[in-house]
Amino acid sequence: MHEFSVAEAIVEKTLEIADREKAESVEKITIQKGDLAHINNEQLIFCINAIKEKIEMLDKVEVEIKTVNVTINCSCGYSGEVEPKDHITDIIMALNCPECGKPDPEIKEGREITIENIEIKK
Ligand SMILES: [Zn+2]
Repeated sequence: MHEFSVAEAIVEKTLEIADREKAESVEKITIQKGDLAHINNEQLIFCINAIKEKIEMLDKVEVEIKTVNVTINCSCGYSGEVEPKDHITDIIMALNCPECGKPDPEIKEGREITIENIEIKK
């Protein structure tokens, strides 16, 4: 399951930061998820909860997932947000530049999953 490996990576990174900061526990993890990242929020939280059970430092952690809009750079000069129009399949979406209509513009943001913030208790 894709969500599980993403959850593992998030937990690993969180622990790395918590360790570096000499944290006693982690209170909250805020995750930014691009609109194009093919991740189910509930499943991701479910996986994080499953992994953190064995980790004392994450005992009381709260997980928040924020969705980030897709932004593109188009050859016509448009740079900004775009709404994915259709889900062709689960993972492929039709994207057109809202200015000139060109399909398949260069995607700046929207694919990635990043840890935006981690709140720790020392
Ligand atoms: Zn364009």
